[in-house]
Amino acid sequence: MQTQVLVVGSANADLVVATQRRPAGGETVLGGDTRTLPGGKGANTAVAAARLGADVALLGAVGDDGHGRLLLDSLRGAGVRTGLVRVVDRPTGVAYITVTPDGENAILVSPGANQEVEPSAVDAALPGAGVLVASMEIPLPTVEHAVTAAAEAGVRTVLNLSPVAKVAGATLAALDVLLVNEHEAAWLLGAESADPAGLLELGPRSAVVTRGPRGAVVVTAEGLTEVPSPEVEAVDTTGAGDAFAGALATGIARGAALADAVRTAVRVAAISVTRHGAQPSYPAASELE
Ligand code: ATP
Repeated sequence: MQTQVLVVGSANADLVVATQRRPAGGETVLGGDTRTLPGGKGANTAVAAARLGADVALLGAVGDDGHGRLLLDSLRGAGVRTGLVRVVDRPTGVAYITVTPDGENAILVSPGANQEVEPSAVDAALPGAGVLVASMEIPLPTVEHAVTAAAEAGVRTVLNLSPVAKVAGATLAALDVLLVNEHEAAWLLGAESADPAGLLELGPRSAVVTRGPRGAVVVTAEGLTEVPSPEVEAVDTTGAGDAFAGALATGIARGAALADAVRTAVRVAAISVTRHGAQPSYPAASELE
C-alpha cells in the first residue's frame, strides 16, 4: 500500500572521526580516517519511512556540492522523492562527529543549506500528504508554519522536537503527536514533574516519549501505554530516534492506531541499533514479518 509521508527537516553529511581523546582549546590531536555518511534528522526519517514502503517526500535543502550529491543519491536510492529538496547557494549541512573509545559522540552541526528551508515552501507541498513529520535543525519559523499549515489543511502532524527548543503554543496545539526522547521530555516538563502525561498540557493531542533500550511510552487523553523494546544487542544507536520517527509516521499514514504504530516503530528502531550507521541500519518492511 502506498502512503503519503511528507518529511520537513534537515539533511547533513555526517563527518565521523574516531579519536583517543578530544582536543582541548588550542590543541591538535590526530584521529582516525574520516568517514562521510548521509545523515540529518529529516533525511534519516525519510529514508526510514521509504524502507518500510511508504511513499515519502523530503522537503529540505542541500548545497551544490559533493555532500549534497551524496545526500540526494542516498535519498533516491532508498526511494524518497527529492523534488522538494532545493539545491541552494550555501554549503550542505555538516555534522562534525568525534567518537571516543568509550563510544561517546560529540557533535558540532554546521546547518548551512538547512537554514534555507523556508516556510513558504511548505504550502505547495501539502496537497496529497497524509502525514507531515517535522524535526528541528531547520529554521524554527519553518517548523512552526509547517505544523500549523498542515493541521489547517487536514494533514496529520508529528513533530520530533529534537534538538529540543521552545516552540510556539499554537504549534504544539496543532500537533497530533509530539515525539520526544526522555531528555527532551524532561526539558519540556521542567524539574518539577517527570510525568509524561504533563506533555498533553502543552497542547498536543498525544505524545510519544522514547526511552532508549526501554522502548517508548504513548500518552493520550485515555492514559499511558508502555511499549517495551525487544531485547537486542545494540552496536550503534546513531539515528535510532529518526528510524522511530519514520516508522511512526508510516504507521499513522497507513491508518494504524497510535499504540500500534509505536509498537512497529519500537521494532524498527531496535533493528536499527543492531547495525552500524544511521540510514544503512534501517530495516525493510520484509524484515518485520
Ligand atoms: P538517537 O539520538 O540515538 O537517535 P534518541 O535519543 O532520539 O535516539 P532514544 O530514546 O535513545 O531516542 O531511542 C529511540 C528508540 O530507539 C527507542 O524508543 C527504542 O525503540 C530504540 N532504541 C534505542 N536504543 C536502544 C537499545 N539499546 N536497544 C533497543 N532499542 C533501542
